Amino acid sequence: MIIIMSTDATPEEIRSVEKEIERVGLRPFMNPGVERKVIAVLGEVDVHKADLVEHFSTLGGVARVDVISDLWKLASRSYHPGGSSVKVRDVVIGGDIIVVAAGPCSVEDEGQLFAIAEAVKEAGASILRGGAFKPRTSPYSFQGLGEKGLKILARARDRVGLPIVTEVMDTHDVDMIADYADILQIGARNMQNYSLLKKAGNTNRPVLLKRGPAAKVKDLLMSAEYIMAEGNQNVILCERGITTFEDATRNTTDINALPVLKRWTHLPVMLDPSHATGDWRYVAAVSRAGVAAGADGLLIEVHTDPAIAKSDGPQSLKPDKFAALMQQLGKVAVAVDRTI
Ligand code: PEP
Ligand code: MN
Repeated sequence: MIIIMSTDATPEEIRSVEKEIERVGLRPFMNPGVERKVIAVLGEVDVHKADLVEHFSTLGGVARVDVISDLWKLASRSYHPGGSSVKVRDVVIGGDIIVVAAGPCSVEDEGQLFAIAEAVKEAGASILRGGAFKPRTSPYSFQGLGEKGLKILARARDRVGLPIVTEVMDTHDVDMIADYADILQIGARNMQNYSLLKKAGNTNRPVLLKRGPAAKVKDLLMSAEYIMAEGNQNVILCERGITTFEDATRNTTDINALPVLKRWTHLPVMLDPSHATGDWRYVAAVSRAGVAAGADGLLIEVHTDPAIAKSDGPQSLKPDKFAALMQQLGKVAVAVDRTI
């Protein structure tokens, strides 16, 4: 349920509506970023209890009470019908411009990251990606450079001027990683790590939340809700392919998820064609499909020498292929009334 206060509602009226929400055992939530005075009512609200809607409608300063029937409340499109965007330094994700985050799967060393950062910046990327804490299927695979990798990422940001996105795997590392990163990535394997979601919800860093390979779109939205219910409204969702019976590719890109998410939530939605396909040969085609299907951004793995990459080399684009893709994407973006 959301309570829309009239534009001339006084702070006292707002406060007493909040008190009333608490009195009936629910939790008032005001989004400070929103100009309209909208109070979300959180908790197990029985939407059929018409008397509660009636009751709130009669309080002083209340213009209207709307029932949000979705299980995800703060993430629901009915909460912000116009859509929301996330601002990271001077990059806006969820606006007319489609945002491309690119970089290696893992940060390997300074020379590698600087070379890739310069190449993706030159090609038009507006965010630099790179993992320092890597969730690997095998414990014997490269696990990332840890904090050393974060320091390299921060230096790359200073050098090329792109904000950085990097993964956080453990609740204990959230504050430390938030000191370096502009965007915290919660990876597919951790999409339902509720302690991690809550911890990220208590930071002031935007969160890029990736869909689990076996998670429904609904589950992804409930995970976003966990972050938002803690106070952090800056959540970006990311489709990265799901597990199906098809094994021609690493995962199957759920392109349907893009329009479904755009309808169900106001949050910006990105697509990761690299993990979705697992093969650099399909990354360009799936990126074009993603832009055509309404993605607000793409997350693409790029490596100057994929053959020796410490992780995900087979799905990484070389800089020249990435630059050519950026040119093509510009044309697809125009076809859907956007730019890149
Ligand atoms: C990554 O972005 O490198 C990554 C590990 O992604 P995912 O969590 O989608 O597998
Ligand atoms: Mn990867």
